[in-house]
Amino acid sequence: MSTSPVSLSPEIQDLIIDVLRHRVGKDERAAKPHDWYTATVLSLRDKIIDSWMESTRRTYADGGKRVYYLSLEFLIGRLLRDALSNLDLTHEMAQALKQHGLDLAVLEDLEPDAALGNGGLGRLAACFMESLASLDIPAYGYGIRYVNGMFRQRIDDGWQVELPETWLSHGNPWEFDRRESAYHIGFGGEVVEANGGVKWHPDEVIEASAVDTPVVGWRGKRVNTLRLWTAHALDPIRLDAFNAGDHVAALESDARADSLVRVLYPADSTPAGQELRLRQEYFFSSASIQDIVRRHIQYEKNIRTLPDKAAIQLNDTHPAVAVAELMRLLVDDYGLEFDEAWDVTSRTVAYTNHTLLPEALESWPLPLFERLLPRHMQIIYAINSRVLRDARKAGLDDLAISAISLIDEGGERRVRMANLAFAGAHSVNGVAALHTELMKETVFSDLHKLYPGKINNKTNGVTPRRWLMQCNPGLTGVIKDAIGDAFLDDTEKLQDLNALAGDAQLGERIAEVKRSNKLVLADHIKALTGVRVDPDALFDVQIKRIHEYKRQLLNLIETVALYDQIRSHPEKDWVPRVKIFGGKAAPTYHNAKLIIKLANDIARRINSDPSVGGLLKVVFIPNYNVTLAERIIPAADLSEQISTAGMEASGTGNMKFALNGALTIGTLDGANIEIKDKVGDDNIFIFGLTADEVAARRLDSYNPRDVIENSSELLQAVDAISNGVFSPGEPERYRELMDGLYDHDWFMVAADFDAYAGCQRAVDQLWTDQASWRKKAIHNIANVGWFSSDRTISEYAREIWGVM
Ligand SMILES: *Cc1c(COP(=O)(O)O)cnc(C)c1O
Repeated sequence: MSTSPVSLSPEIQDLIIDVLRHRVGKDERAAKPHDWYTATVLSLRDKIIDSWMESTRRTYADGGKRVYYLSLEFLIGRLLRDALSNLDLTHEMAQALKQHGLDLAVLEDLEPDAALGNGGLGRLAACFMESLASLDIPAYGYGIRYVNGMFRQRIDDGWQVELPETWLSHGNPWEFDRRESAYHIGFGGEVVEANGGVKWHPDEVIEASAVDTPVVGWRGKRVNTLRLWTAHALDPIRLDAFNAGDHVAALESDARADSLVRVLYPADSTPAGQELRLRQEYFFSSASIQDIVRRHIQYEKNIRTLPDKAAIQLNDTHPAVAVAELMRLLVDDYGLEFDEAWDVTSRTVAYTNHTLLPEALESWPLPLFERLLPRHMQIIYAINSRVLRDARKAGLDDLAISAISLIDEGGERRVRMANLAFAGAHSVNGVAALHTELMKETVFSDLHKLYPGKINNKTNGVTPRRWLMQCNPGLTGVIKDAIGDAFLDDTEKLQDLNALAGDAQLGERIAEVKRSNKLVLADHIKALTGVRVDPDALFDVQIKRIHEYKRQLLNLIETVALYDQIRSHPEKDWVPRVKIFGGKAAPTYHNAKLIIKLANDIARRINSDPSVGGLLKVVFIPNYNVTLAERIIPAADLSEQISTAGMEASGTGNMKFALNGALTIGTLDGANIEIKDKVGDDNIFIFGLTADEVAARRLDSYNPRDVIENSSELLQAVDAISNGVFSPGEPERYRELMDGLYDHDWFMVAADFDAYAGCQRAVDQLWTDQASWRKKAIHNIANVGWFSSDRTISEYAREIWGVM
């Protein structure tokens, strides 16, 4: 067993006091808990720095290739527990703090949850950063340091209210301000011919400067850097205006720069369609590419060797403009011929697609793009003419050629970012097997014909450090006792649990851990919502972004149907259930916000109805984020993964739940399919239409009205909601939402309802046989080790980046 290369000196208590006095500026008698938190992080950070510098030196000495992960989102969550655990210093730090009368867990709770992302895509980037460090791969993550990240969700009278998240209000002891690593980012202006070449003269220039956060890998093997860009005006203040008394105008350019890094666009899988969003994308892509090129030139001198030393991964199309930016630097600044620049660019860049939803395929109005980035527009035209020439040569027809074009010519002309990313990358990957196949058949079918072999699959994963060891120490301990600790370094070793699945004692111990996690969650639910839940009930959980394709509505309608059933047949042996919901809706997504209100309306009615006798409770836990997920997932019995088949690219929540011993109820969508393959058909509850069947029924005349009218349970539930049973103060509140089910039901809620409800009764049946339930839970834990992001990153490293 390797020991941590970083160790706290025996005088850690003294170190904390020293930091508290000299860096925080507080006497230990006057220090507030937050001062102690800051001193703890700074002390730990000092220890990390040595290993960070060591990692950097080693990379330079090896002359190795680096991975650059460009992502507009990093859903990091808290870092203190993660860093302590990965360095194996948790116990030592807790002891040291105890000497000062402090509880580490209390200090950990003071850390704000860094939510620089919306959902799965951003959390994937965070898991990947941790796995890159754990696998000892030199890597930088590049993104934006949003001053306000994801909004904080408050529930007022059942409605979502969005509040700014002020995660930086007490400063951020993890980060290093690197004002010396700064770049000029231009916007607008014009392109002029100058001695044989062209030169872009932007009419606005903003400075991007780096803020670095160390990312500690498992057992401290390596510390990598998350480099987030912040913006400054070149002239922060116009003194003439200020002195003339116009204080606001004097500070205008600083406000303009600040606006670039102020907010994370809070839409999940739909482009914001705003100029500021395009400016953000270019700002961070340009700063990152300039930084990558500068580092390469500093050590290699020759820009032509860039693909040997740098692998740039684009997390979705948000950084796709990086393709044009790299081309611009190579051609305009380094004087490469266009063809050679294209070769260097495409051998360096790879692209990950995250969604097939047509409304989420990013494109920008051409006039806007051209006004903001005139030189990049020229380069995109040049790339396009090359791509279209290839397409003609390959004998593709006009329809295929217009689908491949980087410019959408239909109606208002737009620049298609996915086509730019696809053309400019040597690898284009999907994030689960089904998603990758659908990419080939649908959105990218023509590009796939032109560039066969570019599309490949890399099924997502999650880091087992955060999503098992740290969030569920109880379960981790039981597993260690059962099979030893090899699984800590290789999650697939969890398979050794399969042989013990029938061991009643192990089943008992795992059930005890689950129960104590449920007790903790029950207390939290009481504190947050006022609802008392029974820890012996089945905890049935759906936590994720609120979106129609994820079908929280299917779950809610089934909840209403179950409520009706319990009231009609109180004599039956109903399994006590707690239905737990959590998730944020994009502020402009009307139906998603209405679904949150519906969940809260249903909860209020059911929770106060004595006739269900506590057999059914419904809770909506506000402000779903990484920290809350870490608390809820270890306490879940049932994981709801019920998206309309063909619409969830992968899902990663599904993996976290199974790893913590919840059974899945789900459709054959995204990574659910691969989870089913791993855990076995008997250990998962699968229902509903397949992706092919969904596609066929949409073409064929799907008539949801007939379906609803032929299912008495569904009809009763939909009518109750529609007629205001859950919204007596506003009976029409859900009329339109329910009419949508009758009229088109794009997401196949009605089509899948009976299968889903039937499957839920099979879940009840199994719950009454706890021995069988526990056995299946063990098979889940045992067989989902493959969904570690270490496995995912190893595949990227070998098959895309060439770094392993
Ligand atoms: C894992 C995770 C997600 C992704 O969940 P899905 O169920 O895959 O959509 C979103 N948000 C948070 C906070 C997460 O931890």
